[in-house]
Amino acid sequence: MTANFSEAGKCDTAAIIVAAGTGSRFGGEMPKQYRPLGGRPLIAHTIDRFASHSDISRTVVAIHPDHRDLFAAAVPAGLVEATVSGGASRQESVRAALDYLTENPPENVLIHDGARPLPSQALIGRVIAKLETADGVVPALSVTDTLVRADNGLSGEAVPRDGLQRVQTPQGFRFGLIEKAHRDFAGQSFTDDAGLAKAAGGAVHLVEGDEMNIKLTHPEDEARLQMYLGGTMEPRMGSGFDVHRLGPASPDISAIRLGGIDIPFNRALLGHSDADVALHAITDALLGALAAGDIGTHFPPSDEAWRGKDSAHFLIEAARMAKDRGAVITLVDLTIICQTPKIGSHRPTMVGRLADILGIEQSRVSIKATTTEGLGFTGRTEGIASMASVTLMLPTL
Ligand code: MG
Repeated sequence: MTANFSEAGKCDTAAIIVAAGTGSRFGGEMPKQYRPLGGRPLIAHTIDRFASHSDISRTVVAIHPDHRDLFAAAVPAGLVEATVSGGASRQESVRAALDYLTENPPENVLIHDGARPLPSQALIGRVIAKLETADGVVPALSVTDTLVRADNGLSGEAVPRDGLQRVQTPQGFRFGLIEKAHRDFAGQSFTDDAGLAKAAGGAVHLVEGDEMNIKLTHPEDEARLQMYLGGTMEPRMGSGFDVHRLGPASPDISAIRLGGIDIPFNRALLGHSDADVALHAITDALLGALAAGDIGTHFPPSDEAWRGKDSAHFLIEAARMAKDRGAVITLVDLTIICQTPKIGSHRPTMVGRLADILGIEQSRVSIKATTTEGLGFTGRTEGIASMASVTLMLPTL
């Protein structure tokens, strides 16, 4: 345990970083606070901003009990004084960290969202400086865009933005005030710590926030954070090709599975899985862009688990791998090569399905179909071929 004490022998300002969420709302398997950003896990950036600030003497991080190994791998030992196990809610996690600090209480405490990796040194300094005269301090930004109430997809009444502020963290408090507020109001739920401080009778002052101090909330925030961090994204491209044999015509067969949808046809594609040749080509293209092997590496045909499997599963898994590496898919371009069935009228449905599977906009999905003029195995309707290209942006490590 390390702690820097001021000359008076007292801890001045401690920082609590709340990083105990499971990040399930963000999608992907990696909790968002551990996602790579500019070559390091996001949480490492956040902690660095406080641990390296000259006015912060101690840093305590509330983490999820299941994330101990992730945290140990992400954050150099010795950078924080302690980790505590977070609770079911953000408020309970803060409370756990406050409880830890109570043993050796600091004068002030800053409480910060782990998923905001970019609080500037100046912003942290503004909050601390204002605590000399305030019980509580929150950084806030004015609202510049016009606000309206959404009304069933229509633009409803305008909401006056005068006096409205967007509140950020770190929020700073007199330790005694916020610790007591968390104890006194433990059973009630508050939006943020400032709400608790106000309920306890504290005067909470505003200081200027910082537009760069964004919280990783939506997938598109990641690209902005990368840019702010000076971390670079590199373009990657992968290609995939696949062929599956067509079985004989049968009155028992009513549809063929292609591009994730069922198209009326009296012949089926043959294969170990559902033989969706289009999804296989896209999966290979996506894995190619990640330089992560091919569909056979990850889902070997020798494995009975994949027999008859919906191929959407393979693509969803490849998309999850891409997301966990911080990738942003920019384009999927698929060409289906077959004499029959006709693809054209099914294209919009297929585009929608692929966009859904990959979690990207439909404008990033291109589907083309061609015959081979009756030539070759596709021309003789012995099988269907597909080729795909995927481009994506990947954080440069
Ligand atoms: Mg295949």
